[in-house]
Amino acid sequence: MSTGPLSKELFNAAKNLMPGGVNSPVRSFASVGGEPFFVEKAKGAILTDADGNDYIDYVMSYGPLILGHAHEDVLRKVQTTMARGLTFGAPNGLEIELAKLICDRVPSVEMVRFVSSGTEATMSAIRLARGATNRSKIVKFHGNYHGHGDSFLVQAGSGVAQHGIAGSPGVPEDIVSNTISLAFNDIEQLKQVLAANSKQIAAIIVEPVCGNMGVVLPKEGYLQTMRELCDQHDIVLIFDEVMTGFRVSRGGAQEYFGVTPDLTCMGKIIGGGMPVGAYGGNEKLMKQVAPVGPVYQAGTLSGNPVCMAAGIKTLKLLKDREVYQTLEYRTKFLRDEMVNIAQHHDVPLTVNHIGSMMTPFFTDRSINNFEDVKATNQGRYQKYFHYMLDEGVFIPPSPFEAWFLSIAHTEELLKQTVQAHEAAIKKL
Ligand SMILES: *Cc1c(COP(=O)(O)O)cnc(C)c1O
Repeated sequence: MSTGPLSKELFNAAKNLMPGGVNSPVRSFASVGGEPFFVEKAKGAILTDADGNDYIDYVMSYGPLILGHAHEDVLRKVQTTMARGLTFGAPNGLEIELAKLICDRVPSVEMVRFVSSGTEATMSAIRLARGATNRSKIVKFHGNYHGHGDSFLVQAGSGVAQHGIAGSPGVPEDIVSNTISLAFNDIEQLKQVLAANSKQIAAIIVEPVCGNMGVVLPKEGYLQTMRELCDQHDIVLIFDEVMTGFRVSRGGAQEYFGVTPDLTCMGKIIGGGMPVGAYGGNEKLMKQVAPVGPVYQAGTLSGNPVCMAAGIKTLKLLKDREVYQTLEYRTKFLRDEMVNIAQHHDVPLTVNHIGSMMTPFFTDRSINNFEDVKATNQGRYQKYFHYMLDEGVFIPPSPFEAWFLSIAHTEELLKQTVQAHEAAIKKL
């Protein structure tokens, strides 16, 4: 039992010091109503709040924690590394170790540059694509989220979607005018737009599996055709695998679907809970980056040894494909049980899933793009969220986010989750 201030007092104090009391909008519960709890600590799949409540966690810090919270081996590696200094501003061997782990596993990545967040990775990848092609426009997809860089805040997913704003004030019109946002999974629309603008488009950036409007899978052949179109028009294909990298399979979505992008953005799992991002690709493109090439990009804390250490240990523990099979099997179990229970109680529910990511949508229709997601029963999700919280299960405080399983989500915990789901569904 915690002896410090309660969540309510902490939230009141926080609201006076930080906008909305949070440092990232989704955390505020703005789209489900109510007030957020404050976290005291977490271990494995369990989060404990400042009021002493335990929750089975499916937010998992929005993706990095595939090994669960506070994994002993990761903590130990971080501790021994930090004792040697927190940052150097000079190269260290751990950067090579993590770079090698990434290049060995991600099919398209021959060289990599580390940054400190997913946002930085996507911003830098776009700059590189523009620098390499000498073109300005980029194509993205409605409901995809690529961090909070100016160019991406057009029809974006995640927190941007929850707050019901098309983009964001503060983003200049001339920047947004270089961004073309299209419907995900609509290959005809993409073909037409590329044909009309082909000489101006530097890059297509896509979440190969969408996670930031909830989980939405690419239709059969969609990514392959996108690859072919990029080759045809000399456009740089960027897979934003910040969420899917080392998550949907050992080599990410590109391995899962057998499609090779030119550049890949990474983050989340590669930092094992510490702030790390990266972008990588073939040697020719990556050698356009400074200091070898002219495209400038830098970072005081890039390649930070403590962050590298957490990433290295995490990726090493994800070496065997068996881990991914277990995660996928458990996710499918949870999905099947949730769908069966909903059917039994006449609640329309569609659950999309892949690997250890899933999202339940309150609808009886299949979900293939952002329009489909927006047409689901969001009010029902809000209620469901609070009923689940009452039952001791923390799911994303928004219908536009993915749930994540970790290796710490045991079958016993999944069964408890299924019971919570049944109780919540009955109350809807
Ligand atoms: C989380 C995420 C980002 C942004 O990463 P940050 O570390 O939050 O800046 C970018 N792209 C995708 C696909 C993400 O899921």
